[in-house]
Amino acid sequence: MKTNHYRDKISQDCPKCENRVLAIRINGFYAGSRDRIFLWECPLCGDVWKKAKPRLKVEA
Ligand SMILES: [Zn+2]
Repeated sequence: MKTNHYRDKISQDCPKCENRVLAIRINGFYAGSRDRIFLWECPLCGDVWKKAKPRLKVEA
């Protein structure tokens, strides 16, 4: 089992407040679906966004 706890928080540019933040990763599912979704939350302004273009190489 691979652990990647250190990747739970990755420095990203918040699309809302545009600060460089340690975004909090959110793993979830769409309601009524099994489709998984990955979201990021800004610890400063609380904005949530989808991971569109990861700046860092994230393991597949
Ligand atoms: Zn923000």
